[in-house]
Amino acid sequence: MENIYDKTFESLEEYFLSLNEKKFKANQLYSWLYDKKIKSFDEITDIKKPIIERLKEDFTIGDIKLVNVEKDELVNKYLFELNDNEHVESVLMRHDYGTSVCVSSQVGCNMGCKFCESGRRKKVRNLTSGEMTEQILKIEEDIKEKVTHVVIMGIGEPFDNYENVTNFIKIINHAKGLAIGSRHITLSTCGIAPKIREFASFPYQVNLALSLHAPNDELRNKIMPINKAYPLKEVMNALKYYYKETNRRITFEYIMLDNINDSEDNAKELCKLLKGFNCYINLIPYNETNNIDFKRTKKDKILKFYDIIKKNDMNVTIRKEFGSNISAACGQLRSKKEDLWNHFI
Ligand code: SF4
Repeated sequence: MENIYDKTFESLEEYFLSLNEKKFKANQLYSWLYDKKIKSFDEITDIKKPIIERLKEDFTIGDIKLVNVEKDELVNKYLFELNDNEHVESVLMRHDYGTSVCVSSQVGCNMGCKFCESGRRKKVRNLTSGEMTEQILKIEEDIKEKVTHVVIMGIGEPFDNYENVTNFIKIINHAKGLAIGSRHITLSTCGIAPKIREFASFPYQVNLALSLHAPNDELRNKIMPINKAYPLKEVMNALKYYYKETNRRITFEYIMLDNINDSEDNAKELCKLLKGFNCYINLIPYNETNNIDFKRTKKDKILKFYDIIKKNDMNVTIRKEFGSNISAACGQLRSKKEDLWNHFI
């Protein structure tokens, strides 16, 4: 049975039209789901009984279960069980400007980035748009407040699950859905060039981030296997096209790995690569894990790297660190429940 949270507003209108009902019922139903947050179709009071019965035959209300939460001062890490007993994690971060949730888009990930704990397990399947939407709904229920920002940067490569991820954006952005402003939604990709081009015509003003992490092909091939399929030139051309079509500034994420990609030459090369690009560069101190050998760059070396970029008149920030105490930081999410429990102990 289909999950009602998979339905975009427009597809729900079509559904009601197919039942010879008025399409404004989509409006009513969205309001019950996302405003009143019903748990059963029987709670609906302004839709006729036979239609409620039909909804019960056609849809479930929700497919995921919250099974654990770990809380730090500014970060909560959530473990969800899916209805095929798979597990995914999401992270809530509290910023001065609001609450942001990092959602997972797949169970496992096929991209194989060498520094990433989340991608150690191969992709098992894509998450549905409903399973992604529910991560936010369940977190809002837990914290009893509205989530204001969403980053699609958890487990999985969003462009490897393009249709469900774009439907998810439509649902959470809809005024009658979770009403999260499109400029408050960020999708992060490791660089699937054809999808970057396709995303240029996606008519929502969401932010795009590229996980760059290396300024040349030789190094990027070593740490991000996707670079062999889509080398830097192809990715940069796709991003230029994206910028030309959307006029939206792109963020480049750069994880600082000790003695791998953090030399002064690497910083200069990075400036050369991004020169003339309207972009932000986000330097991310690496979060070490027990299973991966990479180490984090020392603070003074990160600052030196930062200074070189700054002197080249480029927009650069060093990411504030969140959640490393509970392994909720970037690249530390797990996709297997057993891994997670080991982590809690
Ligand atoms: S960094 Fe993202 S794309 Fe790369 S392996 Fe990890 S989850 Fe997958």
